[in-house]
Amino acid sequence: NNQIKVAIVGYGNLGRGVELSILKNPDISLVAVFSRRDPKSVTTINTPVFSLDNILDYKDKVDVLILCGGSKDDLPIQGPLFAEHFNIVDSYDNHAKIPEYFENVDKSCQKNKKIGMISVGWDPGMFSINRLYGEALLPDGDTYTFWGKGLSQGHSDAIRRVNGVKAGVQYTIPSNDAITKVRSGVRPTLSTKDKHTRECFVVLNDDADAKKVENEIKTMPNYFEPYDTTVNFISQEEFDKNHNTMPHGGFVIRSGKSSDSVNQVIEYALKLDSNPEFTASVLVAYARATHKMALKGEFGAKTVFDVAPILLSSKSPIQLVKELL
Ligand code: NAP
Repeated sequence: NNQIKVAIVGYGNLGRGVELSILKNPDISLVAVFSRRDPKSVTTINTPVFSLDNILDYKDKVDVLILCGGSKDDLPIQGPLFAEHFNIVDSYDNHAKIPEYFENVDKSCQKNKKIGMISVGWDPGMFSINRLYGEALLPDGDTYTFWGKGLSQGHSDAIRRVNGVKAGVQYTIPSNDAITKVRSGVRPTLSTKDKHTRECFVVLNDDADAKKVENEIKTMPNYFEPYDTTVNFISQEEFDKNHNTMPHGGFVIRSGKSSDSVNQVIEYALKLDSNPEFTASVLVAYARATHKMALKGEFGAKTVFDVAPILLSSKSPIQLVKELL
């Protein structure tokens, strides 16, 4: 059996997404899910669950470990910890702290010559690659990233902390005006506020004062105050019916000039019904690449910038040249 043997650490939205994605990749097999919780309490689709405490017993049975923990509290510990004994892939997305995380994972990788493929997904991830391509191909230009329409976990949490709110979600919506301007090639200067608006859907507690809640949300510093924010009050039934998925997406646009009067615009767009399922699909393709890089003797911390596209595919180089070049 020459399938690539993968295991998952942490079974939340992303972990489940990885399990689903591997079902669509016949060259990869999922051998185990590891969780900090009691394995009996974790229900997967059809993969055996083991306690994370015993993971080192699987050192020689796993080619690549996909870390599906949260970026805030789980990965800063689990990344460096497991990169000492396994090739790992993760989706660490705290942009400001990526350089520090890279250093920590790299130190662990050096001990047993493992690969630590960090910050894989769509942003960071596919969007980062498209920002790089844009800059490299059109050095005289500007890069614009728009996010949405998408559910923002952090902003939804902030709404739920407001007094009188029973349930709430927040969607980040890219501004059509801003996108139209950027697509036209005029290279506008845009603030974060110019680029996005925020739309909230809120279910109130029975005794709550709607005006007060709306005002408290709209004036919340950093989260909502700098933006054009709308607040919609809805019933619990409507909330349960229409706001139970995790859509996301966005655009990376590079607008530049190849000579003084010639505009060139490059656009990469994502429309995702499920943010975790798409992120998981990217992680799985990069697990394949990580395995191929490890077989060639590479090691150390890596990012999407280090991976040649040919390594992501299950097809042979000659087949890719014939079919896609
Ligand atoms: P999540 O569902 O909250 O899961 C995080 C961890 O919490 C799991 O690994 C799991 O670990 C534990 N957990 C899950 N469900 C639980 C439950 N019912 N009770 C107790 N513990 C539970 O987070 P997620 O949605 O999978 O997202 C993970 C990370 O992905 C995010 O923090 C984000 O940084 C990253 N992400 C990156 C990108 C990108 O483009 N780079 C895009 C989207 C998300 P145990 O099994 O060990 O308990």
